[in-house]
Amino acid sequence: MYLRLFDPWKNEFCTCPPKYSLNPYTGCAHGCIYCYASSYIKDFFRCREKPNLIAKLRKEIKRIPPETIISMSNTSDPYPPIESKKRLTRECLKLFRENDMRILIITKSDIVCRDIDLLKEMFTAVTFTITTFKHHKKIEPNAPNPFKRLKAIEKLSKESIPTGLRLDPIIPMINEEGMEEILISAKAVGITHVTVSTFKPRWDSWKRLIEIFPEKRKQLEDLYLRKGQKFGNSVYLSHQKRENIITKVRDICASLNLTFATCRENISEYNTSDSCDGSHLIKGGCYIHPPLFSKFL
Ligand code: SF4
Repeated sequence: MYLRLFDPWKNEFCTCPPKYSLNPYTGCAHGCIYCYASSYIKDFFRCREKPNLIAKLRKEIKRIPPETIISMSNTSDPYPPIESKKRLTRECLKLFRENDMRILIITKSDIVCRDIDLLKEMFTAVTFTITTFKHHKKIEPNAPNPFKRLKAIEKLSKESIPTGLRLDPIIPMINEEGMEEILISAKAVGITHVTVSTFKPRWDSWKRLIEIFPEKRKQLEDLYLRKGQKFGNSVYLSHQKRENIITKVRDICASLNLTFATCRENISEYNTSDSCDGSHLIKGGCYIHPPLFSKFL
């Protein structure tokens, strides 16, 4: 099955509405040092097509409930560089448009602008991840730079395609200082909602972080390994440190009149939006009440 229920492991901190997840590609070439998917997908930074994707999807979408949200993508970017040539994501969108599906796109790429013609006729919202203006070459080495992403937000917003920002992840002492500048810039080009999360390293993303920022090693070890907490396979900052970061973002969002939500922080009481992931932005409405959804599982 290519269309899979999101969060099959039922993470105790996940507050997402019920949704499906689709990754047109396996792996991702963007090479973000903080990526968590590389901890459980083999050869992750080699992006490859999902074989026979469109034919299989045609059958699979008949089996999911109407108005279901499909999130593209959660363990890869739906617009990696090879999408320019392969057009797998574009073909998926065409199929979803024919079937009036609700699509939430999460990307770091301005290639999404190529699909404006489809997106503006669909029930969709696009969320862009921007984590830093200063360190993007170090922490997201192969992704389009954040200024291209801002331009893309502007283009989509001008076409009335709803957009949100994922300030995700915030890594203490690396990109914590730049949060306000990112929020102001993203608001200026049209986003209305922000999803924020702190860095929750797994073994391999921790190794990459320390390799790239050896001068921060001691402080990061203190924050994560000494004062932090382990949940599942991830290490979290202490509750107090997370709360400190999250409330700063929440206050900036409030001053900019942006809705705000946290992602898997166990601090969801601060959320000011109807969904944490931005699915409430999707035109046409899409929320499916869990008991209704459970009939289809
Ligand atoms: S864009 Fe997303 S999936 Fe791709 S490497 Fe970066 S964090 Fe991982």
